Parts: sequence; C-alpha cells; structure tokens
Amino acid sequence: MDSTHTTLQQLDAAHHLHPFNDNAALARKGTRILTRGEGCYVWDAEGNKLLDAFAGLWCVNIGYGRKELGEAASKQMTQLAYYNSFFGCTTEPTVHLAAKLAELCPGDLDHAFFSNSGSEANDTILRMVRHFWAVQDKPQKNIFIGRHNGYHGSTVAGASLGGMKGMHKQGGLPIPDIAHIDPPFWFGDGGEMGEEEYGLLCAKRLEDKILELGPDRVAAFIGEPIMGAIGVYIPPKNYWKEIERICRKYDVLLVADEVICGFGRTGEWFASQYFGFQPDIMTLAKGITSGYIPLGAVMFNNRVAKVLAEKGGELAHGYTYSGHPVCAAVALENIRILQDEKIVDTCRDDTGPYLAAKWKALGEHPLVGEARIAGMVGALELVPRKPSREFFPERGRVGQLCRDIALKNGLILRATNDSMLLSPPLVISRAQVDELAEKAWKSLDQTAKELGIA
Ligand code: PMP
Repeated sequence: MDSTHTTLQQLDAAHHLHPFNDNAALARKGTRILTRGEGCYVWDAEGNKLLDAFAGLWCVNIGYGRKELGEAASKQMTQLAYYNSFFGCTTEPTVHLAAKLAELCPGDLDHAFFSNSGSEANDTILRMVRHFWAVQDKPQKNIFIGRHNGYHGSTVAGASLGGMKGMHKQGGLPIPDIAHIDPPFWFGDGGEMGEEEYGLLCAKRLEDKILELGPDRVAAFIGEPIMGAIGVYIPPKNYWKEIERICRKYDVLLVADEVICGFGRTGEWFASQYFGFQPDIMTLAKGITSGYIPLGAVMFNNRVAKVLAEKGGELAHGYTYSGHPVCAAVALENIRILQDEKIVDTCRDDTGPYLAAKWKALGEHPLVGEARIAGMVGALELVPRKPSREFFPERGRVGQLCRDIALKNGLILRATNDSMLLSPPLVISRAQVDELAEKAWKSLDQTAKELGIA
C-alpha cells in the first residue's frame, strides 16, 4: 500500500465523501491527514505537532494515546468480540456499563439503552418518548420542542430535533410534530438585559410554545445544556432551573442532550449538575469512550422505565451493535481512568478555573467581543468593533481565517460563524493552558492584522 502523503490525498479526493464538507472544494485543497496522538497533541502527515484545543470533536476527554483503552478493547475482542443484546442475551461488559452509568448519572436515571452514536441516541428518544405517551392513552402527546440552531445529530430524527436550517433544507426536514423555540444567546440577542432577566425571558419562550400547541400535545423538550455546534452558547445560570419548572408544570418530559457536556466537560460529570436541574432522559456519546470507539447511550429515569416495562410491550427498536461488548469494555476503562485519576475533579478545582482566567483574558483582545467559558468548553466571539455587539457582515469568513492562522501556529480551534470554539482534552495541564493562550493571542493578533484592525 502506497501511503505517501500525496497518494493518500489523491485517494481521499477520489473515494471519500467527508461529512459536513464542500467535497469539491476540499478535493482541490487536499485533506489534512492526522497520524498520531499523545495527551493533548496530534501530529499530521507533514510532521506538524498541533495542540488540539478541540479534543478531536469535543470527545477525547482523557487525551490521546492511552494504552489501557487499547488493551481493554484487545482483551474483549479476543475473549468475545461480539454478541447481540437481542433475543434475551447480553454480555458482561454491557451489564457492568449499564450499572456504572446508573451509578454515575444524577437522580434516578438508572436505565440505559445503547446506541452507536449521539445521533442514534436522539433518534431513539424520539420513538421511545412517543411510545411512552401512546401506551398511556395519550398518542396525541407527541410533539417535541427543540431550539433553533440546536444540534442533536445528523440522522433524520436527530437533525429534525435540531434547529439547523441548512440541515433541514437537505432531505425535507424536520419530520412532523417537532417545534422549535429561540435559544438563549445573550451576546446576539440579550440587548441590555441582565443575566437573570434574560434567562427567564428565554425559558418563557418554552412556556409560550407549550401553551400555543396545548400541553396535551407536547411530549418533551430537548436541549443541549450548553449549545455546542452553533458556537458554545452558555445560558444564564437560572435558565435550566426555570425550564425544569415549566416542564414539570405541564408534564412535559425534559431531555438533556449531554453528548458534548457529559463526562466532565463542564467540570461536573454532567452539565445538568453544573446548572442544577434534573432531566428525565439524558443522551450520551463522545466522552463516554473519550472517542476511542463509537458508543452512545440513552439514560431513562424510573418513571419512563416503569411505563415502558409495564405497558410498553415489546420494544420494536434496536441496533445490531446496541451494547457492543468491545465498546462497553472501552467505556468502562475510560470511566475508570476519569475516576481513578480524578480528572473531572481536577478540571473543576484546578485546571478549569486556570483555563477560564486565561480564556477570559483573551477577551481583552481588540478582536474579541466576548470570551465565554464553562469548565472546559468556551468560545471567543470575534467582532469588527468593540464594544458594540455587531457581527462581521459576511459571517464565518473571519472565523475561518483565524482558525487557519491558529493551525499554522500549531493550535487547533474550531470556528463556527465567527466564534472560535474551545474544548480541549480534560487532561490539559497548566503549562499547556499557557501554551494554548499564547498561541490563541498570537493568532488573534495576526488575524486582526490581516483585517487591518488595530
Ligand atoms: N448531540 C450533540 C449535542 C452533539 O454535539 C452531537 C455531535 N457533535 C450529536 C448529538 C451527534 O452525535 P454523533 O455525531 O455521535 O452522532
């Protein structure tokens, strides 16, 4: 096999359709090929060492290169590479993982259903929640409310629950009986309101929508505790508690999509703990295995599980790889490392606050309109004129420019619109935080210079 850099790029352009890419443009430019990872760093095929401040795709929480996960996979593959969870069967690691998740997840989220991804986890809940109401003689209580610009994955239900207009345009989405409300995004939408007032206003959008549709029609509300893909929108602290109150008032199930936030991203195990609310259902993926192997899960509370068990009959839903033993073994080892090495605690008490201080200091840069961060997830909002909160006219161009400059400086950040997104491996050290902040400042300077902003 010829694995020279250019051959790989040519083969890639000829045969590989990339997700979320303009593939013709990418083929002209050439893909970047990553070859190795260790801790918070990855290396590309040209030999560049890059500080990955995005943890792959919000997922490599324990960092790259942990041999224990490879060993856990290898051991399970050799012993029993696969067996299904259909026909009354299961495997040892699958059972242990379900029990472990029940122990870790807040409240009585004690029941796990396994998928291969976050998208599939969200597809699962759409069907299960509608089934939950239908078997209680409320088939009309089937509407999900999500949020404009929310992201819940790329499958048909996932993309429908999400509120990305560009995704809805492709494939005739959303599917019926899904509604959306505006999300909390103070920088773009908060005007002169204080945090508390704005939090209540945004939560009231849910109550208004429930009343408009009729509480007997609304099955569930789904949201990312912190909206990741659209640009790390961190809601006011009171938002989720108020959302919880409204859901309880109208008997609407509350679903927290913790695909990004779960497993320590906010400095708590789950963002529902960070914001102090209790979901009825939680969807998980990414950090559950630190991205080492695909796995997703849905956690249900006792109420939902009881109805499904007593009235649900046969569950007509499942994947060949639901509860895959190798993925479960890797997840267990990943969780063991997170716990034994106190990675989440360190994040909450030490490196998280240290990173937050450095990140907030980047907010002093003339190009940065807002620096926001919660635990180890954050964003810099790039703007043409401080302190006004206006955006650049051609949204996205400056973000991409800054992202490309950062890459040349050895730093991986993601850009959405003109927000620079941060989500490093949770094991990032103080020294690496310093390196990240220096490279980010330098990249902001160079971007400003290219734009002619002093
Ligand atoms: N939910 C959220 C909040 C996500 O950010 C993502 C992926 N970025 C998903 C769901 C979908 O997960 P996956 O890509 O594993 O299907």
